[in-house]
Amino acid sequence: MNPQRILRQKLEDLQRAGITQLPRELTDLVAELSQQTAAAPKSAENPAKAVAPAKPIVTTSQPASSVKTAAAEAPVQSSTPKPEKSPPATPVTRQFLSSSSGSMPGEFSGDTARPCSTLSLDERVASLAKAAEQVAACVRCQELAETRTQTVFGVGNPDADIMYIGEAPGADEDRQGEPFVGRAGQLLDKITEACKLTREEIYICNILRCRPPGNRNPTPDEAANCREYLDAQIEAVDPEYIVCWGSVAAHNLLGTKAAIGKMRGKFFDYKGIKVLCTYHPSYLLRSPGAKKDVWADMKIFRADMGVLLD
Ligand code: SF4
Repeated sequence: MNPQRILRQKLEDLQRAGITQLPRELTDLVAELSQQTAAAPKSAENPAKAVAPAKPIVTTSQPASSVKTAAAEAPVQSSTPKPEKSPPATPVTRQFLSSSSGSMPGEFSGDTARPCSTLSLDERVASLAKAAEQVAACVRCQELAETRTQTVFGVGNPDADIMYIGEAPGADEDRQGEPFVGRAGQLLDKITEACKLTREEIYICNILRCRPPGNRNPTPDEAANCREYLDAQIEAVDPEYIVCWGSVAAHNLLGTKAAIGKMRGKFFDYKGIKVLCTYHPSYLLRSPGAKKDVWADMKIFRADMGVLLD
C-alpha cells in the first residue's frame, strides 16, 4: 500500500475517534504526498521499464541519421567488416591488325604471350548469345540487311581449341542459318574428318554474318562493320588455333593483302593464337588440284597439335 493511502486511513481513524482538529504539519504532509503521487509517471511502479533506453530500429534501407535516439547517433560499427571490392577483372581486349599495306603478317614465333581467358564456359556461352542477339538485329550493311533471309552467326563448341573462319554465308547458309552447310561445307566436313576431328569440336564462323547478294566478295566496309562480332566470337571462344579458309578470311583477320598461295603452309600469329591459312573449300570444288595443298596444310596444322596424319 502506498504511503498516501496509509496516511488517509490514519486520518480517518482519528476522525472516528472524535479528533477533528489536526496539526498543520500533518495536513501539509498529506497535501504534499498527494501532489507527488499525481506527478509520478505511470511506469514508476516498474522502475526497470522506466530506465531502459528505447532501442533504435535500424534497417538496411534506413539511413543511420534517421534514427532519432541517442544510441543511434553513435557511429555504426558493423561486427563483420564489408569485404573490400575486388578490382575488376582485366578485360580481355584484342586489337585489330590495321595493316593494309599488303606486307606479310608476322609468322608465329611464340613470342606473343597468349592472354589466358578468364571466362567460364557459361560466360562464353552467354557472351556468344549476346553477340548473336545483336547480330540478328544488325542493319549496319544496308544492302545485306535488306537482302538476307537471316543472319548466320556461327556454330560449334564455345570452348573449342580450333576456330574455323570462312568468308561469308552463301545461298545454303543464308537459307539454313548455319555456316558451311552447302557443297563447300560438305567438303569441309570431309577434310575435318580426315584430320581426325569432328565438326562439334570446332567453332565455325565467317568474316560476314549476312550473305552478299550474288555471292560477291565482302566489301572492306562490310568486313569492318562486322568485325566487332568476329572479335566477340574470338574473344569468347578463345581458341588456340584459327584456320582461315580462303583469302577473304586470311586478309581480313590478319590485315594483309598477301596472296593466299604465299600464306599457306605456315602459322601466323594473331595475339598468341596460331593462325593457319589455306584455300577455301569452294575453291577446291572449282580447282580439285589444290586439294593436295590443303592436305599438306592440314598435316602441318595437326602435327603442331601432336596428331600425325597419313
Ligand atoms: S554483315 Fe555483319 S555488320 Fe553487316 S549487316 Fe550483317 S551482321 Fe551487320
